Amino acid sequence: MTFATLGLIEPLLRSLETLGYQTPTPVQAQAIPAVLAGRDLMAAAQTGTGKTAGFALPLLQLLAMEGPKVTANSVRALILVPTRELAEQVHEAVRQYAENLPLRTYAVYGGVSINPQMMKLRSGVDLLVATPGRLLDLFRQNALKFNQLQTLVLDEADRMLDLGFSEELANIYRALPKKRQTLLFSATFSDDIRLLAGQMLNDPLSIEVSPRNVAANTVKQWIVTVDKKRKPELFVHLMRKGKWKQVLVFAKTRNGVDALVEKLQGLGINADGIHGDKPQATRQRALDRFKASEVQILVATDVAARGLDIEDLPLVVNFDLPIVAEDYIHRIGRTGRAGSTGEAISLVCADEVNLLSAIEMLTRQTLKRQSEPDFEPEHRVPDTDASGQVIKKPKKPKKPKASGGGGGKRNLGKWVDSGEVAPAEPSIKPVRKVPVFNTGPRKRKP
Ligand code: AMP
Repeated sequence: MTFATLGLIEPLLRSLETLGYQTPTPVQAQAIPAVLAGRDLMAAAQTGTGKTAGFALPLLQLLAMEGPKVTANSVRALILVPTRELAEQVHEAVRQYAENLPLRTYAVYGGVSINPQMMKLRSGVDLLVATPGRLLDLFRQNALKFNQLQTLVLDEADRMLDLGFSEELANIYRALPKKRQTLLFSATFSDDIRLLAGQMLNDPLSIEVSPRNVAANTVKQWIVTVDKKRKPELFVHLMRKGKWKQVLVFAKTRNGVDALVEKLQGLGINADGIHGDKPQATRQRALDRFKASEVQILVATDVAARGLDIEDLPLVVNFDLPIVAEDYIHRIGRTGRAGSTGEAISLVCADEVNLLSAIEMLTRQTLKRQSEPDFEPEHRVPDTDASGQVIKKPKKPKKPKASGGGGGKRNLGKWVDSGEVAPAEPSIKPVRKVPVFNTGPRKRKP
C-alpha cells in the first residue's frame, strides 16, 4: 500500500517524499480514506504510531480541495491539543505536510503574549492548532470566529481531560457549528472519553491500531525496587553503569524535577529540567538542546513532556511512577517510536506499590523486577501482578534466625502464586478518576 493508493493528492505526496515517508502506518491506512470521505473518527492510537499524519494529511487535502476561502478572523479546521509543546510539534508536522499547498496554518497556546496571535488571526487561518485555554481567550476577545469551521480534531483527548480541560472543551464545543466533521484521537479510552465521544461524534468510525491500553511492545520495560530516599543515588549509579547517553526522566512534581536536576548538575552531569512553572521559552530551549544532544538528561513532569517527539530516544526513566496509570503508557511512548526499540526503567519504592499495581493492571502485564546490588530496599515493595492485586506478604510465624544462604537479596519473588489467592475485593482502588466532562474546576498542572 502507498500514500497514493489512499487517495492523497500530488502536492502532499511530494511533501511525504521529501520527509522520507514511504509506507503508510496502520493508523494512517485506516484514518486517511475515512477522513477524506468525511467520516467522524474515534481513533485509539498511541503516540509514535504516526497518528498526526493520519489526521493532518487528509485534513489538509479537504481544506485545499473544498470549501470557501477563509475570511477575516475565521478558522476552517481546528486541532486541539493538551500542551504548548504538542501544539508546536503538531504545527511543525502540519507545516511540513502543507509545504506545497496554498494554505495558511498557525498554532496558538498560552504562556506567551496574546497580541501577536491576535494580529496573525486577523486575516484568518485555514488550519489552527491550539490549546483549549488560549483558544477560548482568543474567542472571547473576538479574535476568532468559528462560522467557517468544518473540522475539529481532538488530539490526545484523554490527556486533555486528565489536565482538567473538560470545562474549556465544553465551552468550545458550544461555540462550534453543529454541522462539522470531528476526529477524536486518544491513546487510551476511559469511560469519560467514551462519554465525550458520545457527545461530540456523529456515527464515528472506530479505529484501534493497537490493543487497548497496551504499551508499545517495542519498549523493553522493567522496574528496579529501591527505598525512596535512595532514588537519586540509584539513578546516578544506573546511569554510570549503563553509560546512558540520552535519557528522558519523569518526576512527579515540579519540585522533584528541580531537586533531581540540581543534584545531577552538582555532580557535573549535563542535565536540565522542564515543568509547568518554567517560561515557555526556557522549556523550548531545554527541549531543543536535549534533542540536539547538547543536554544528556532531561527531567520533566508529565505535562511538560506530553507528546514530545524525539527521534530515536533510547531510554525513558520513571524516577517516580505517575499518579495516573495511563501516563505510564504516554511516558514510555517517548521511546520505541515508529518501530525502533527502546527501554523504560522505573524506580519504584514501597510507597508506590498501588501505582505500580494500577499500571500493571492497565497494561495487562507484570513488570519484570530487578533489584540492584547494594540498593535493595529496606522497605520491601510488595509483589504485584497484572490482576491489579497487591500481594501482601503473609505474617510469618517467628522463627529463630537461620544462618547462611540468601546472598543478601530481599526481593525474592512471590510469596503466593497469583493464581492461588483470589481475595473477594481487590486490595487497591483504581488510582485515577478523571473529571467528568462538563463539570468541575480546572486542576492545577503538576
Ligand atoms: P506521531 O505518532 O504522529 O507522533 O509520529 C511519530 C513519528 O513517526 C514522527 O516522527 C513522524 O514524522 C514519523 N512518521 C509518521 N508517519 C510515518 C510514515 N508513514 N513513515 C515514516 N515515518 C513516519
